[in-house]
Amino acid sequence: SSKPSSKFTATTKALSKADKEMAKFYVLIGPPGAGKGTQAKIIADKYGLVHISSGDLFRENLKNETELGKLAQGFMARGELVPDDVTIGMVRDRISRPDCKNGALLDGFPRTPAQADALAVMLKEFDSKVELVPLIDVPAQVLIDRLSGRWSCRAQGHVFHEKFNPPQVAGICDIDGSELYQREDDQRSTVENRIKVYTQQTAPLIEYYQSRNLLVTVDGTKPIDEVSADLQAAIEKA
Ligand code: ADP
Ligand code: ADP
Repeated sequence: SSKPSSKFTATTKALSKADKEMAKFYVLIGPPGAGKGTQAKIIADKYGLVHISSGDLFRENLKNETELGKLAQGFMARGELVPDDVTIGMVRDRISRPDCKNGALLDGFPRTPAQADALAVMLKEFDSKVELVPLIDVPAQVLIDRLSGRWSCRAQGHVFHEKFNPPQVAGICDIDGSELYQREDDQRSTVENRIKVYTQQTAPLIEYYQSRNLLVTVDGTKPIDEVSADLQAAIEKA
């Protein structure tokens, strides 16, 4: 495994012991369209956690035309996973920032057992660990409807649904007023591939975290506020 970046080490040292003990990291897993982003925003707000979405980080790099963005572009367009080394480096940089000193809610990372191993290693360097892994469970048929009606905000990744969670004004984010758009990878053919990729490469994480007694499954077919309530109950019980 690779050595931590100097930035990461510096931040680790800057944390006081009390801060380190308080740091809580949660990992939301679930298939594309399960409601991870929607719930992550709600839960992060509620508990004062930073929301880290690997998909949002990649899309920011795409928009800014960074090297990382250029590297990720083809994989994302095809609905494939970006290679682990690239993804792990990007998330490590994000977690090493001081705003994560109390912890974070990870959404979309890890997506492979290798990423999960890497996460455990980087959190150990903070004297921290994964606290709980809620799985938002939604069957494949529902996911297609969710993603084909999803509208995402350009500025901060807030998400809406034309039927299930419509914005007050069509095409405008309720929260920050930015433009809403439909992601190119939310078209049906790409969605089908993303679900296949989830089943093959990400679903093994269910057993991975189950065997570590960290997994809790939440029924993601319920309305948004009920899923939030179930997630909060699980977090408070943990
Ligand atoms: P979803 O809405 O399916 O949860 P995301 O926004 O999380 O989608 O991810 C969009 C795309 O970004 C993925 O299809 C993949 O190409 C890439 N990506 C995001 N997170 C990861 C990750 N942890 N590992 C590899 N690729 C990722
Ligand atoms: P993910 O991040 O897992 O890909 P999102 O949070 O982006 O999923 O949700 C996918 C789509 O489904 C969005 O359009 C969102 O508004 C909608 N959605 C999220 N949760 C629910 C729910 N519980 N019931 C109905 N629609 C939902």
